[in-house]
Amino acid sequence: MGGSPVRILVVGAGIAGLAVARALRLAGFRPDVTEKLPAGELHDMGLYLPGNAARALRRLDLDGPVRPLGQVIHRQRFLDATGATLCELDLHALWGGVGECRALLRAELHRVLLTGAGGAVRHGAEVRTIDQLPGAVGVTFADGTTTEYDLVIGADGPRSSIRTLAALGGPPRPTGQVVYRSVIRHGPPVTEWTALLGQRAGFLVVPIGAGRLHCYADETGGTPPADPLARLRDLFGGYGGPVPDVLDCLESVHVGVTDEVELGRWFHGRVLLVGDAAHATAPTLSQGAAMALEDAVVLAESLTATSSVDAALIAYESRRRPRTRWVRDRTRDRNRTRDVPPPLRDPLLRGRGGRIFQEHYRLLVGPL
Ligand SMILES: Cc1cc2nc3c(=O)[nH]c(=O)nc-3n(C[C@H](O)[C@H](O)[C@H](O)COP(=O)(O)OP(=O)(O)OC[C@H]3O[C@@H](n4cnc5c(N)ncnc54)[C@H](O)[C@@H]3O)c2cc1C
Repeated sequence: MGGSPVRILVVGAGIAGLAVARALRLAGFRPDVTEKLPAGELHDMGLYLPGNAARALRRLDLDGPVRPLGQVIHRQRFLDATGATLCELDLHALWGGVGECRALLRAELHRVLLTGAGGAVRHGAEVRTIDQLPGAVGVTFADGTTTEYDLVIGADGPRSSIRTLAALGGPPRPTGQVVYRSVIRHGPPVTEWTALLGQRAGFLVVPIGAGRLHCYADETGGTPPADPLARLRDLFGGYGGPVPDVLDCLESVHVGVTDEVELGRWFHGRVLLVGDAAHATAPTLSQGAAMALEDAVVLAESLTATSSVDAALIAYESRRRPRTRWVRDRTRDRNRTRDVPPPLRDPLLRGRGGRIFQEHYRLLVGPL
């Protein structure tokens, strides 16, 4: 099918949508991309990309523009709430031969993907209805225009409306976590990925280059507090390590809840879901972007390797299911350890934490 005039619409210009557009362009397709938000509306937040994200970026021929961005991360350090070391993960040993781990500003990756996707995103355009036709999909946009496509790809995030319109699933399931994010420009000197594990709460600091730090914190709960900065100081004020200095530097904090999406199938007719729309998880393993980038690579390969769009969708889903299921299951495992009281959990992590955390990535270091 490579190079044939298959009419493709990608809905959503996040990491998944732009990566899919990039992969499809490399494979000779010319997809339309729509995004409901106006251009340039991105919060300044950090992103940690494990080694399999670097491998997918290489396959998208985007590793060159990403390599100068952010900072390479060599180790993950897990500390207890006082700041004492529990265990460490040597990322070169874990991801050797796959790719470097990198932390950067989300907006920096977005810019690279936008350029890679050909830049032609229709912003402020929302899909209103979709009609399943024989071998095609009729799409009506909010401005009343209607177009027919051979394939519609819903890359519109965990709260995907394409998922609902295509009768593939309803709202996402809350994971029961409140999450906090912030970027600090001039913070304390933290040189590696550093997480402090508390009781049903955790605090993560990651350098993202140029002296900046990406801060992420989570706690068990379902409702974001009205004053997230005050809540962070309250929750983590007694923590050790770099946390007191980081708290002193925080200015604005973005707060939200996380969702999980688990679906029986990812496509219906000629409508397919990718990225968080199909398989969102809590961000505990930082695999969301990597999974979205891998989706893009595998989708383009499936479309070029098979004789029909329908066969490609079947091939795509069967290749992607095991890896995304692995991420979901390991994320749940990791999140369960948050509920174990530190006096029980921490001795175990001191003894075997490195091996336990390394095991969470076992399938992902293997081939796509
Ligand atoms: C707190 C937090 C921290 C995270 N940290 C990391 C991390 O460090 N590393 C990592 O790899 N992952 C992380 N993730 C996960 C990662 O952000 C997602 O997995 C990844 O962004 C998935 O991208 P996506 O394109 O599928 O969805 P999204 O990023 O949600 O993008 C969807 C896009 O579709 C658009 N859209 C929505 N509805 C419509 C519509 N109807 N029509 C048109 N456009 C629409 C949206 O505006 C958006 O631009 C984190 C997630 C959270 C919540």
